Amino acid sequence: MAGNFQHLRIGVLAFQGDVREHIQVLEELGAQVSKVRRPDELAAVDALVIPGGESSVMDKLVRLFGMQQPLRDAIASGLPVFGTCAGLIMMADHIVDAIAEQESLGGLHVDVRRNAFGTQIDSFEVDLEMPGVTAEPVPATFIRAPIVERVGEGVRVISQLADGRIVAVEQGYLLGISFHPEVNGDTRVHEYFLGRVAQSVVEKKASI
Ligand code: GLN
Repeated sequence: MAGNFQHLRIGVLAFQGDVREHIQVLEELGAQVSKVRRPDELAAVDALVIPGGESSVMDKLVRLFGMQQPLRDAIASGLPVFGTCAGLIMMADHIVDAIAEQESLGGLHVDVRRNAFGTQIDSFEVDLEMPGVTAEPVPATFIRAPIVERVGEGVRVISQLADGRIVAVEQGYLLGISFHPEVNGDTRVHEYFLGRVAQSVVEKKASI
């Protein structure tokens, strides 16, 4: 294991989706993990993971529980957030092919297309190059996955499919990826995120 993550408090947004899988990976890496459904739970963490699932359902629950504004505020204030698949959709400033009335949290300056691979190719796995994150390719599982169609200011592309389609981006402490590293036991992307969170904690301390 590359880092020491025991001091990091990581929340997983726990309304819907593969919450348990993320908790398992994050605990494996040594972080303190808690579920986030309420503003006080959000205020108690150093970073947030938004899992994969179904973004339209997650959006409804987020609003029903009065969490849309607290989450938007947290993102705007610089909270590190890692979104996978539906989580990436939640983070995007703009959703292409959203269902009626669907809203995102925004903050990550990208346009993301939902279900970008159509119904023909529902899910697939590829070895993905992620230079800057890890030297060896990452086995990446895509499940009704989104694609990043437009990248705005301050957004760095960190991974693309062989055909050039963008599947991982980073903007400051926001990390959004189209696939599910939590489902195949590979912890490297989470480890990378925890490294970034550790960095943000150091920066925050220095600014107090
Ligand atoms: N298609 C889903 C959505 O629109 C995302 C799928 C996933 O998270 N695996 O939210």
